[in-house]
Amino acid sequence: MTTGPVFSSYVITDPCIDVKDGTCVEVCPVDCIETTDEDNRFFIDPALCIACEQCVLVCPVDAIYLEHEVPEQWKGSIETNAAFFLRAKEAAPSVSVEQAGAMLDAARGRAAELGIKVAVAVLDQHCAVVAEDSDTTTEYDDVARNKAYTAVTFELATSAITEQRAARAPDGTDPARVVLDAGGLPFGRPYVLGAIGVAGGTAEQDLECGRVAVTMLWPASR
Ligand code: SF4
Ligand code: SF4
Repeated sequence: MTTGPVFSSYVITDPCIDVKDGTCVEVCPVDCIETTDEDNRFFIDPALCIACEQCVLVCPVDAIYLEHEVPEQWKGSIETNAAFFLRAKEAAPSVSVEQAGAMLDAARGRAAELGIKVAVAVLDQHCAVVAEDSDTTTEYDDVARNKAYTAVTFELATSAITEQRAARAPDGTDPARVVLDAGGLPFGRPYVLGAIGVAGGTAEQDLECGRVAVTMLWPASR
């Protein structure tokens, strides 16, 4: 089992309320800052934020903090942010069979170019398998499925989930299915609709095959 660097996303706190000038949206390289006409502030999607700090540098009211550094008086913003994405996720459609099939083909196409055999699984946001295929052993079939399961559950790429995050697994997470090796990637814009898992190559190759598949349909995704 491998772990990546310590990862924490940024959170927009109360000083944004009613200012809401959108300056941060202009500089975000992964397009992960969202709002609606009804909301009085912006929100950062933790599944996509790469913690590059660009938004922090331009915010005129210093509203943006790393999640674990949010000042006490604005801690409620963490829950407000999570509630925004949960609400949107519940209303979001599922990944279609056609989309999942196209991602499967893209990942396997890249694997063929790399000269490797892989198992690929695409799961929806409820962890149900929408598409899967394999030209390797059944051992990798399980790993691919579980990489996707892990990426959906944590709403993060498996390569970005640290032991710190694993210790905060959502209720109901099956620890036997948590795989932190690279190759599990969440997808969906603007909300997580599911995840793809690739297994059979090296960590870098699995990650690359997954990225090719995800960015084909959601170019701003990691
Ligand atoms: S830290 Fe970077 S990636 Fe995250 S919301 Fe700010 S600009 Fe976007
Ligand atoms: S730059 Fe600051 S105040 Fe402006 S929308 Fe972003 S978080 Fe809110």
